[in-house]
Amino acid sequence: MANYFLDKIGIEEDLHLAIKFTSDLPEYLLGFVIQSDTGYTSNLQKFKIFIQSNLSEFKLSEVLAHELVHVRQYVERKLEIDQSSNISWMGRRYFYNSNFHRFSPWEKEAHSEGFNLARQLSNDDLDMSHFIIGPKSNICSQYKSWEICRSN
Ligand SMILES: [Zn+2]
Repeated sequence: MANYFLDKIGIEEDLHLAIKFTSDLPEYLLGFVIQSDTGYTSNLQKFKIFIQSNLSEFKLSEVLAHELVHVRQYVERKLEIDQSSNISWMGRRYFYNSNFHRFSPWEKEAHSEGFNLARQLSNDDLDMSHFIIGPKSNICSQYKSWEICRSN
């Protein structure tokens, strides 16, 4: 599924992406993405996506697509967040404000694209069992440069 979305979203860069399904997120938070250190052994950009594990199939694909849109925003440097959590979008500085955050240009883009991609995925009649390896396992599977983990 992640590969399917990467193609649709148009991310061509080789990334290191870990997707972790977890039941530890607060209820209101369906998923989030962090960019982890590039590290000196590799120049691959690394991202970790955390997704609430008890979502319906549709919601899960929507959240994954949403977070992958954020990955593209980071990769293209449209969205940048520095060490002190300053946000800049297309070169313009924004100050973090949780009320505003939902309606920010990067969230609007991720919301609408995420929803549309999830719809496309269900129209293409692909189900996620093809994409998630080893359900209920804590072991991360290496799949190309992807690491797909599932816990809980
Ligand atoms: Zn978002």
